[in-house]
Amino acid sequence: MSNKIQAIRGMNDILPAQSPVWQYLEGTVKDLLASYGYDEIRMPIVEQTALFKRSIGEVTDIVEKEMYTFEDRNGDSLTLRPEGTASCVRACEEAGLLYNQTQRLWYTGPMFRHERPQKGRYRQFYQIGVETFGMATPDVDAELILMTARLWQQLGLAEAVTLQLNTLGSNEARARYRDALVDYLSARKDQLDEDSQRRLETNPLRVLDSKNPETQALLADAPELHDYLDDESREDFATLRSILDAAGVKYEINQRLVRGLDYYCKTVFEWVTDKLGAQGTVCAGGRYDGLVEQLGGKATPAVGFAMGVERLILLLETLDVIPQEVMQTVDIYVCGVGEGAAKAALLLSDQLRGEQPWLRIQTHCGGGSFKSQMKKADKSGALIALLLGESEIEAGQVTVKDLRGGADQQTLTQAGLSDWLKEHLN
Ligand code: ATP
Ligand code: MG
Repeated sequence: MSNKIQAIRGMNDILPAQSPVWQYLEGTVKDLLASYGYDEIRMPIVEQTALFKRSIGEVTDIVEKEMYTFEDRNGDSLTLRPEGTASCVRACEEAGLLYNQTQRLWYTGPMFRHERPQKGRYRQFYQIGVETFGMATPDVDAELILMTARLWQQLGLAEAVTLQLNTLGSNEARARYRDALVDYLSARKDQLDEDSQRRLETNPLRVLDSKNPETQALLADAPELHDYLDDESREDFATLRSILDAAGVKYEINQRLVRGLDYYCKTVFEWVTDKLGAQGTVCAGGRYDGLVEQLGGKATPAVGFAMGVERLILLLETLDVIPQEVMQTVDIYVCGVGEGAAKAALLLSDQLRGEQPWLRIQTHCGGGSFKSQMKKADKSGALIALLLGESEIEAGQVTVKDLRGGADQQTLTQAGLSDWLKEHLN
C-alpha cells in the first residue's frame, strides 16, 4: 500500500545537498547589495488579489492565467504573490517610506505562478528582487545594471550572459507608438496567429514578444518604437548608454524587448543566456515611474529588477563554476569511542567552538564502532577527524587524523590542539 502524499507539481524541495549552492548565491548577492548600500525588506507571501490586478495589468500572462488566487475564510480574494514589485510598493507606501525620500531596497523569497513546469520554470520559484524609489534620473538605472554586471563577474557567469537593453519611452510616447503599431498590424491581421490577434486587441505591444517566425518576419517592416520616443526618454537612454560604455558593460539594443508587465516605462533590460534552453532570462527589470501613483500613492519614480534564483543556480552548475569550498560545510568531525567518550567529544567540541568560533565542527552522536564513526567523518566532508578513545581521555590527549591529505596521524595534548588547529586549518 503506497499512497504517500507528494509535493505539488512545479514546487520543489531544496534538499540539504543543494543548500550550500543556494547559500553561496544568496550570500554573494547579499554582500554585493550591502556594498552598494541597499537595505532588505520582507513582505508577506499573500496579498489582496486587487494589488496584482491593478499593478501587473489585467491583460498579462500573469494575471490572465498564472495567479494562485483563492478565497480565504472571510470571503476575501487573496493571491500568492507572483512577483515582488507590487508588494514592495504597497509595503513602502503603507509605511510612509516613499514620501520625499529615496529608497534602495532588496528582498528574496518564493513567488508563485501556475505555469507549465519544465527546466528553469516552476510554480514556486525564488527571486532576488531589487527596487529603488525616488530617483528619476538614469544614473540609478545604470547603477542597477553595473551592480548585476559585477555580480556575474563575481559568480563566474560574465561570459555566459548578455545584456539586452531598450527604452519604452514615456507613457504618452508609448501610446502613440501603440497606435501606429495597431494600424500596421490591423492591416495585416490575417497574417497573425491567433495569440497575436488576441494581443492586438488587448495588449498590442506584446505582439513584439511573439515567438512565431512569421509574426517576427511581419514585424521587420513595422514602425519602430524608437522613432516615437519623447526627448526626455531619448536623452535618458543616451545617458544610461554612455555610463555603461564608460564602465565597459556591453549591451545589445533590442527594440522588441517590451517585457510582459504593464507598468514599465523608459529603461527595460534583461540578462539572457543561451546555456539554459528556452528559459534563458536570468534577470529582468526596468523603470516603472507610474506604478506608485497607480496604486494610490504620490507619483514616485522607481526602477528595479528581479533575478530567478533557480535559473542562476542551473547556470552555475552548467558552467561548473561553483567554488569547491562552497560544498565543504564541515571542518572537523569529532569521534569518541568507549566509556565516557561521547561526553568528552561534546565537551571538547564545545571548548573549540568557544575558542575558535569560525570552525565548523560536527560531533559524532549515536555511538558505534571506530570504523563506522570514521565513515561518517569521511562522508561529512570534514578536513580532519579528532579521535577520543579511553586512553586519550585518560591522558588528556586527542588524536588528529587528516581526512583529505596524506599527513600522518598524530596525538596532541588537548591543550596543544587549539594552537595546532590555528596553524593548520586557517
Ligand atoms: P519568462 O519570460 O521566462 O516567463 P518573465 O518575464 O515572466 O520570464 P519576470 O516576471 O520578469 O519573468 O521575473 C524575473 C525573473 O524571474 C525571470 O527573468 C526569471 O529568471 C525568473 N522567473 C520568472 N518566472 C519563473 C518561473 N516560473 N520559474 C522560475 N523562474 C522564473
Ligand atoms: Mg513568464
